[in-house]
Amino acid sequence: MKNETMMQYFEWDLPSDKLLWKRCIAQAPKLKEAGITKVWLPPAYKGMNGVNEVGYGVYDTYDLGEFEQKGTIATKYGTKQEYLKAVKTLQNNGIEVLADVVLNHMMGADASEKVMAVETAENNRKQTVGGLKEISAWTIFDFPGRNGKYSDFTWNSSHFNGVDWDDNAKRNALYLFEGKRWDGETDEEKANYDYLMGADLDMENAAVRAQLIKWGMWYEETVGMDGFRLDAVKHINANFYKEWLEKIREKTGKDMFAVAEYWHADLKRLLKYLDNVENCMSLFDVPLHYNFYNASNQSGTFDMRYLLDNTVVEHRSKNAVTFVDNHDTQPGQALCSFVQGWFKPLAYACILFRREGLPCVFYGDYYGLPAHNIPPMTGLKKMIKIRELYAYGEQKDYFDHENIIGWVRMGESEHENSGLAVVLSDGPGGIKRMYVGKQFADMEFKDVTGKCSDSVTIDALGWGDFRVDGGSVSTWVCKAAYDYLETEVM
Ligand code: CA
Repeated sequence: MKNETMMQYFEWDLPSDKLLWKRCIAQAPKLKEAGITKVWLPPAYKGMNGVNEVGYGVYDTYDLGEFEQKGTIATKYGTKQEYLKAVKTLQNNGIEVLADVVLNHMMGADASEKVMAVETAENNRKQTVGGLKEISAWTIFDFPGRNGKYSDFTWNSSHFNGVDWDDNAKRNALYLFEGKRWDGETDEEKANYDYLMGADLDMENAAVRAQLIKWGMWYEETVGMDGFRLDAVKHINANFYKEWLEKIREKTGKDMFAVAEYWHADLKRLLKYLDNVENCMSLFDVPLHYNFYNASNQSGTFDMRYLLDNTVVEHRSKNAVTFVDNHDTQPGQALCSFVQGWFKPLAYACILFRREGLPCVFYGDYYGLPAHNIPPMTGLKKMIKIRELYAYGEQKDYFDHENIIGWVRMGESEHENSGLAVVLSDGPGGIKRMYVGKQFADMEFKDVTGKCSDSVTIDALGWGDFRVDGGSVSTWVCKAAYDYLETEVM
């Protein structure tokens, strides 16, 4: 079995050129060649901002770039036909496709309606402010441009818990509709974090749940994706996606891999969510991202022994999708916590070369972020290839120094010349003595990602003295592996 590597195939500031699906079709063979085995595509349905919609301002989940709605037939990324072809082409290249599922909220309603509602406090959603009053809420979604094709379900205030805009008073506040409560089993920040934005779906309403399951089945039948990336799950009842995934897996008879975004740095909340959903999905390892971010901002004073502490990958590795950055952490975005460039190779070594976790490579690191003048990350393609070819076998850690840490993968006979020794330093350079195994005795190792041009000879007992320069990572592989990478691959 080869190691898996996922790729998030978009960044926030892609041009609104409707060309992403076409680019996917063209790039699929190259992605396969690069060692990518799973691709996460952005939300494929019509959003409130039409062709300028990244995808999270969902308007009509049945419009995959097929109907004239929000001023355009295609979405920001292309037409429905191109989307379907992109999914097929990736799959024909042996790459699984994850579809982005955004069900917490809807935006860009077709009309407003009068609703009785009570205001709740922004920072304590369990606390009401004043009494019931009539507001004008944007909650009518009847999709005139689609005219009932695929589904005649239309939405009104009975399907939502609340909104944050009274169009009558032209006032922004958090309005909970009469007879509703904010959904349970959501994150406890702000006392209850059901509400995020737009018209918030009432996941405790049987008609809503039934409709979303029906849609999920239509979506899978139409597209044939291999799995899902689930958006904003901390704002949705944990039991909702548990049921939704069960139903879809049952119907398709497929595994339908799922990874969810529960955006919180506190591991305890992520583990609690995984417990609630009985580990039926993976979570993006947000605490690990923040460890990388913090280390990258401490110019060498971060204690590297704790780099992987309090992370999903450390505590529940089978459910961890590790990543360095994404469309929300990139420059200009709300969560902006972009890992600094000097630390990126260290962070990618942690997600690509270790045994635990499914790594997800960010489009913006792979291709660069032109809107921010950020070039592609040097060496990333090579690192993905090293993972595919050599990051195998038993793992031994040397997280024993505040600046310089390392680990070893002993290799596996199934993968020729596999095995590697990784050394990272966020401070001055140095040497770490590590055991790679007697099978490498007297063999020469070379640094394939760092700046060290000398070689290391493994002693008779299987130990080597592996060097790293300051503020960098060195990845040492046996000379045959090094030569193959340098001459045959890159
Ligand atoms: Ca919600």
